[in-house]
Amino acid sequence: MLSEFDLIKRYFQRDRAPGPNTFLGIGDDCALLSPTPGKVLAISSDMLVEDRHFFAGADPFTLGHKCLAVNLSDLAAMGARPLGFTLALSLPVAEPDWLDAFSRGLFALADAHGCELVGGDTTKGPLNVCITIFGELAPGQALRRDAARAGDDIWISGTLGDARLWLAARRSEVALDAADHAATGQRMHAPTPRVALGRLLAEGGLAHAALDISDGLVGDVKHILAASRVGAVLDVDALPAGPALARQPVGLRRRFAAAGGDDYELCFTAPVAQRDAIVAAGTACGTAVTRVGSITAEPGLCLVDADGAALDLQLAGWDHFSPG
Ligand code: ADP
Ligand code: MG
Repeated sequence: MLSEFDLIKRYFQRDRAPGPNTFLGIGDDCALLSPTPGKVLAISSDMLVEDRHFFAGADPFTLGHKCLAVNLSDLAAMGARPLGFTLALSLPVAEPDWLDAFSRGLFALADAHGCELVGGDTTKGPLNVCITIFGELAPGQALRRDAARAGDDIWISGTLGDARLWLAARRSEVALDAADHAATGQRMHAPTPRVALGRLLAEGGLAHAALDISDGLVGDVKHILAASRVGAVLDVDALPAGPALARQPVGLRRRFAAAGGDDYELCFTAPVAQRDAIVAAGTACGTAVTRVGSITAEPGLCLVDADGAALDLQLAGWDHFSPG
């Protein structure tokens, strides 16, 4: 039986020199981080609970990836550069194969972003993974939710709705072929945090407001509208549906792209004058960017179709998958 300390040492404490922003890593009462002088820390926590945010028996490698990905996505939405993270882990049993796969999934993504595990806590209990992530940015460059302005374009990174489509297939609401099933499962279980794009938008002063879409675009964009005291017109037919969702009937396509959930794409607003620079930023980091609407001085969210006609997606009362 692994002791708590053996477990930390074997799976989470790595035998290597700490990165440039870690003064002291795992092993003491606190980790010590060294942010770049003049920068502020960007800090966010996300907790994933079994049977609520992921299914019991979830693949541990992809779970390790996803727990960190959703936290990196928050840094991306602020435009911050990742520094490090802590991991609070509650486990029913210390199962070596599970821990090995979980930590490999976690570190593969951490290393891809130069984001170091600097500490945490480990306890026995129901499976629950809580990560707190630390990033840094110049204070004036943060992509805040209260910074949208009337006349801004609204943009979306990547594609929307394929994670929700996977869930619909799991619930036997739609049938997918094997290829679409695998591709949509990948979107649900292994989202790609848009860290490089968020940084280019913030550091280049290209965007005003941003957030990452976790509960569905239509619900999440309202956080920007409320904080910025503005409204928006969204062209639902301009939303970039995921490749599998694009093959579905138009009604499903519109609903899942507009309000699916688990997309972990960025929604951001930017001045019209930045259109070319934003397309260039998307190209530079290999992430598609799509213009889907505009911010209005008039409050409220208006959904329209490709012809500009108001669209009622009848989302009210519709049970969309909303983690948390
Ligand atoms: P304390 O007694 O102060 O709570 P612990 O004994 O829980 O400290 O942890 C010892 C060291 O291991 C600390 O540096 C802590 O940050 C680190 N640690 C504990 N659990 C984890 C984990 N799951 N991942 C990474 N580091 C961890
Ligand atoms: Mg402790």
